[in-house]
Amino acid sequence: MRLLLTGSAGFIGSHLAASLLTSGAQVIGVDNYLSGQPAHTEALKRHPGFTFFEADVSQGLPLVAGPLDWVLHFASPASPPHYQQFPVETLMVGAQGTQHALNLARRQGARFLLASTSEVYGDPLVHPQPETYWGHVNPNGLRSCYDEAKRYAEAITMAYHRAHGLDTRIVRIFNTYGPHMRADDGRVVTNFIHQALAGEALTVQGDGQQTRSFQYVSDLIRGVRRLMDVTYHGPVNLGGTDAITMQRFAEVVRAAINPGLPIRFVPLAADDPRQRQPDITLARTLLGWAPEVSLDEGLKRTIASFRQQASPAGPLPAA
Ligand code: NAD
Ligand code: UDP
Repeated sequence: MRLLLTGSAGFIGSHLAASLLTSGAQVIGVDNYLSGQPAHTEALKRHPGFTFFEADVSQGLPLVAGPLDWVLHFASPASPPHYQQFPVETLMVGAQGTQHALNLARRQGARFLLASTSEVYGDPLVHPQPETYWGHVNPNGLRSCYDEAKRYAEAITMAYHRAHGLDTRIVRIFNTYGPHMRADDGRVVTNFIHQALAGEALTVQGDGQQTRSFQYVSDLIRGVRRLMDVTYHGPVNLGGTDAITMQRFAEVVRAAINPGLPIRFVPLAADDPRQRQPDITLARTLLGWAPEVSLDEGLKRTIASFRQQASPAGPLPAA
């Protein structure tokens, strides 16, 4: 098994690479460090099956000699502060980056997987969200650079499948967390953990009644790997099933680290989805998949890893 993985220096990409390398695959990682971390590349390079190209996949992919079985396209900023800081780059990696990755898969006769997102549902009006729901997206708001890029990425992936017979997969990933997220990532999980570890107030945005459904990264990796092994070309949701409000989530993180800390309410970001929760019926039936790591257990592991993050080049945990 030989595969190319874009976004290998990112949070999910580094876990996926570690998992595939552990199974004996040859992994060619590509990343331009827009939101990733060189320390992940350094850790992966300790494995003899890993090679790395620093490149912007929106400009093109490196010329890879020899056959490829899979092309896995995970490159894209995913944290709202990151993609809002780089809106054009985010649109480009979803558009041109996806097309370059599709072309590579087509040239090499490889199976292709797109890392899509629950953001394609926007601020959903249907709960929980099944794959058949078309979403409720602001096409030009602050989050549109990400949402619309991924919607386009799904559309071009399906077009390559229909027009060129490319063997494609689409995973719609819901909020995922775990070790190896960037400390300054800006997402709620990292913010709350770092605030609590620093003895600061936890910043809950808006009234804190908006919900998310968190999944631990090893559950996601297991689902992605199963999806590669079945023949199904439509999008598949992978996410945690238990919705939790952000106020409650702050209380849970605080209780795990420092119960005496205050919670501070701050303004809500524009277009913030009010409720998000996947319908995972398809993943259950198609993949026999369901999340296994509870929020308490996943948070425990994540907090432990963040406590050690003073040494960022620490060993990559296999997911
Ligand atoms: P991340 O920011 O940690 O990783 C993304 C990686 O892509 C980074 O290493 C970044 O440097 C790289 N990258 C960005 N643009 C690039 C470009 N033009 N060329 C080469 N590399 C580039 O984010 P993540 O959380 O690991 O997300 C990975 C993928 O999963 C993304 O496609 C994201 O949309 C998707 N996803 C993640 C979540 C989540 O909760 N983490 C949810 C839904 C979807
Ligand atoms: N959020 C929060 N405090 C923070 C960061 C985020 O209350 O410090 C909220 C945010 O308003 C959103 C939710 O947490 O409702 C999840 O935000 P995140 O940026 O992690 O990801 P999103 O699901 O919005 O892409």
